[in-house]
Parts: sequence; C-alpha cells; structure tokens
Amino acid sequence: MTLNGTKNSGLHCCAVCGDADDALTQRVYAAPQRPSRTAFQRDCERIVQARAFRRLAGKTQVFTSRASDHFRSRLTHTIEVAQIARGVAQELGLNQELAEALALVHDIGHPPFGHAGERALDECLKRHGLRFDHNLHALRIVEHFELRYAAHRGLNLTAGVREGIIKHSRDYSPEQYPELAVYLLDRMPPLEAQIIDLADEIAYLTADLDDGVESGLLEIDHIRERVDLLASSYAHVERQHAGVDAKFLFNEALQLMQNILTDDLIATTLANTRAIAATSLDEVRSHPARLATFSPLAEAQRQQEKRYLYETLYTCHALSLEHEKAEQVVTALFDFWIAEPQELPSGYVEQIETEGLARVVADYIAGMTDSFILLQYAQVKRAVRR
Ligand code: MG
Repeated sequence: MTLNGTKNSGLHCCAVCGDADDALTQRVYAAPQRPSRTAFQRDCERIVQARAFRRLAGKTQVFTSRASDHFRSRLTHTIEVAQIARGVAQELGLNQELAEALALVHDIGHPPFGHAGERALDECLKRHGLRFDHNLHALRIVEHFELRYAAHRGLNLTAGVREGIIKHSRDYSPEQYPELAVYLLDRMPPLEAQIIDLADEIAYLTADLDDGVESGLLEIDHIRERVDLLASSYAHVERQHAGVDAKFLFNEALQLMQNILTDDLIATTLANTRAIAATSLDEVRSHPARLATFSPLAEAQRQQEKRYLYETLYTCHALSLEHEKAEQVVTALFDFWIAEPQELPSGYVEQIETEGLARVVADYIAGMTDSFILLQYAQVKRAVRR
C-alpha cells in the first residue's frame, strides 16, 4: 500500500519480529517450541480448534431468524474480520499472525442473540452488582473454560493475544480493573490489536448493508440516498458497468466501499505512525492515543453509515421484535437458574462456591448458541408448567 504510490517497507514497529523471547509470545504454562510454526500461528490453531470458536457458527451476528442461509453468523463475520486484519497487517509490515489470531478470537465472548443477548445478560447481572462484558468473558473462555490440555485449564495463549482480547476495542481503567494490571492498562496496545476494532467496523459496515438488503429490510436506492460512501461507490461502479442489474452494481459498490475503508485505515495509520516517527513497539505503547485510525473524512462517513444502520436496520420493527424475544429468553433462563441452581449442569454447580451463582449462570448462558438457548428455554417452560 502506498501513501504516495510506492510500496511501503513496513512500519518496523510491529509487536514482534520473530523474537521468540519477546514478552508478547510468553505463555503462562511452558509449551515446547515448534520449529515449523510461530507462537502466534499456534495461537491461531488453538483458537480455531476451540469449542467456543465452533459455537460462533450458531450465534447471531445481526439476524436471529434464519430466514436466509446467506446471513452472516458470528463465525463468518469473524472470518471476514480475519481476512481484512491480515491484509492490513501485511501492508503495514505488522505481524500478520498476531493480527489474525486477534481477529479470530475477537468475538468469542459474545453470548447468543447478538447485542440483544449481551444487553439482556448485562441487565440480569446488574441486579446482582455485576456486569457482562464480552471482552472479559472472552478472556475467561480462553483462560478457564476451554478444556483441551491435560496439564492446565484454558488454551494457554500468548500474552500478546490475551492482551489484545482485552484491549482491541476499548480502554479499561487500571483503577477500575486492578485484576487486569498484567495487561498494561495504562499503555496502548500493539498496532496489531489496534487495527482489529477497525477491521471489525469495515467488515460489518459492508456486511450489514448486504444482509440488510438480502433480508428485504433495506433497499438499495434508500441506502444510496442516505449513505454517502455507498452512494459514491455505486456511482463509480455504475460508470464502469453501464446497464448492469442493480444487484450486481450493489455488490461491486460494497466491495469498493470495503476497499476504500481498508486503504484509508492503512494509509492513515501509516501516516500517524510516521508523524511521531515511531519505530518501536515501546513508542506505539507510550503514545497517548491510538495510532490506528481512519482519516477524518472516512471517520465521518463511517459514523454516517453507522447511524443509518442503527436507525434503519438495527432498531427497525422486525429486528426489535427479535430483540424483545431474545431478551425475554435470556432473562427468563437467568432467573430460572438463579432460583434453581441445582438444575445447572454439574460442572457449573461446582463453580458456584468460588465464582458466585450469578456469574456462573451468566457464564453458562453466554456460552450457548441461539438454537441451544431456545431448546433450554422450551424445556424450562415445560418443566415450570408441570
Ligand atoms: Mg466483531
């Protein structure tokens, strides 16, 4: 990629440049080195082989109803984010495998039913003085819940991936989260983690327009009237492909839009990093703001589209009904297991003493797929009626 039409030679401040002793590649439990694979490649494999990763296939991205087999699930969304993140990392000369591992794991802590499920679980926990946060839950999954190894709980991921799980999308204050001190909360994350949230934005800004049209809830002409970035992309491809059906033009416009945002992220991050002459991870960490950003124009376009999606799609009547149902299911099951903890699976009952009942119930629900939680809901409703 280019700021001025020439191939860049990378930022030279990537998280790790093949140094196996680097702090970011450290694991809690010693793991033998594999000469054929880097530490972050192994993390990618550990994440993809995790049960929680496979469950992403059964979790809502935006549409809970399976009215179309073509809607994104959390899993296909995750794969799209990984592709974008890896490409951005490659162009910036960052560590592609760390970026890929972070993208693969970035949504692993999401409960069923997308953001509606997360909101409902958070509301349930608030009544017990707790909160639900999908990043913190992701950390619990990779550190405790995955049981693949004889010698320890969890996936034993590298420090760099665990730090990125916490810090890729938001900043946690060290005062509020002293238990996360090991993740250097007062310092910025490596660029590989910083690009993940923006790769996520690029993926869903494109995909949600696509799935929105597929669902019939959005119309191409309406999007063109209200979303400048899609309108200009559409006009561009229309000039190139005169007379082609609108559906094909829309697909081409989405692809162009994704490319424009991706190129903007690369160019702006490169410019930001060069502006402070950062050449080391330490300088990236010490800078008071994130260096991975969109330009002001792309940021304004991003916000305009996000507002459009929120007002026109995420809160439309059809999806609001899905969200209400989702919140009802999550809340009813949470209340049931709080009242009847002996009905939880035995592995969860054992954790109540150390974790507390409310957290254990939330952990159980958060791990479920959409179909599994609906099955549980039907069974509980039958049991309560008896
Ligand atoms: Mg995501």
